[in-house]
Amino acid sequence: QYKGMSKERMMEIRKRNCSPMTMKVTYYKKPVFIHQGYMQWLWDVDGTRYLDLFAGVATVSVGHCHPKVTAAAKQQLDKLWHTTNIYVYPALHEYCEKLASYFPDPLKVIYLTNSGSEANDLAMLMARLYTGNFDIITFRGSYHGGSPQTMGLTSNAAYKYPVANGLGCTNTMCPDVFRGPWGGSHCRDSPVQTIRDCGCAPGHCMANDRYIEQLKETLVTSVPNRIAAFFGEPIQGVGGAVQYPKNFLQDAYKLIRERGGICIADEVQTGFGRTGNHFWGFEGHDVLPDMVTMAKGIGNGFPMGAVVTTPEIAASFSKGVHFNTFGGNPVACAVASSVLDTIREDGTQRNSLEVGTHLMTELAKLRDKYEIIGDVRGKGLQIGVEMVKDKASREPLPADAMNEIFEDVKDMGVLIGKGGLYGQTFRIKPPMCITRDDADFFLAVFDKSLHNYMEKR
Ligand code: PMP
Repeated sequence: QYKGMSKERMMEIRKRNCSPMTMKVTYYKKPVFIHQGYMQWLWDVDGTRYLDLFAGVATVSVGHCHPKVTAAAKQQLDKLWHTTNIYVYPALHEYCEKLASYFPDPLKVIYLTNSGSEANDLAMLMARLYTGNFDIITFRGSYHGGSPQTMGLTSNAAYKYPVANGLGCTNTMCPDVFRGPWGGSHCRDSPVQTIRDCGCAPGHCMANDRYIEQLKETLVTSVPNRIAAFFGEPIQGVGGAVQYPKNFLQDAYKLIRERGGICIADEVQTGFGRTGNHFWGFEGHDVLPDMVTMAKGIGNGFPMGAVVTTPEIAASFSKGVHFNTFGGNPVACAVASSVLDTIREDGTQRNSLEVGTHLMTELAKLRDKYEIIGDVRGKGLQIGVEMVKDKASREPLPADAMNEIFEDVKDMGVLIGKGGLYGQTFRIKPPMCITRDDADFFLAVFDKSLHNYMEKR
């Protein structure tokens, strides 16, 4: 039973002493006061249990306070909390060797950081040093971080400020086969297809050609006709689980490399088995990036990030000193190492595939039942449900309607997320230990909340 600080006092302190951001984003009209977590469950200070389908934004990978991971952290805490990597210590080396074994050659050199923004900052720097070029391209609607440099990669106004940031970053049209101008039913790789007719000829995706033309036009603006890098998530996370035509990344990687650039996969949300069929999201696109960045799920909620690249690219980075006090911290390495073991031992990736496919299949039935669900998409447990005013217009469902459904789902005991360029997409990215029964519980709750909303509308 919770005996800590009162809710009123927390809100007072939040208003007075916490960053203005925490005030702006209370997320719910009636805020949730979380006190404890175990696997897919969270408890608030009143003892109410919530099914967590957002996992602190796709971060809790194997489960809140997973006993195996907690035990590994405790063991390391008793041995050594900290030393910087100017000394040689086992936790870092054990982890780097283990993480490298999850990548094909030549992706074998690892840098450890403390967050996704830091990992992407480092990736930007290395790409520029290696190629000698400056311009970097990302997709519209993407989120790659909030540091001054990565704010330039991030291409969603909600996370940007009118200050100089991320010079040399350009965005290209996001090849979104639901909301974008082209694409539809057979363009993307997902267990459920869109309701839009794509009009593509069998075996040839015309939408892909058109989105690639857009990328070509963006490339014309790069200086001096050369580029440092292209950053892309395998499935856009904050953007609302947006998926691209099946061959888009293959064709994009080819173009970028022709212009002297390297290709970077941001796996901060899609890595560690979340997409189900594959351990890394890029594998689902049949591409091999030159660099992969990761965070969130890597530590099951413990602050950590990483960049993996090739020895050749890493060599270009050896002229100066790269120092990071906490990157590769022994406790973080022990936790992350245990996360990799737990994913294997618990069959987490397979569970992502099975439960995620079940969820999407059933959500597609709700899409067919309700006029306000425009699209259900994703892979494994990286799922987006895009809400619309009506299917014909595909106009985003307004914020007040989104909030009403969102709050109702929470009041019935399930936490989900919101995202998308217009805040129009519900995001489902739970701890990957959720069961089919949990999925069915959410489906019943979601159905009821949509029904409640439609009755009132
Ligand atoms: N990349 C992606 C795809 C993300 O979703 C995020 C965080 N939402 C980041 C990078 C930045 O990670 P962090 O918040 O750890 O800096």
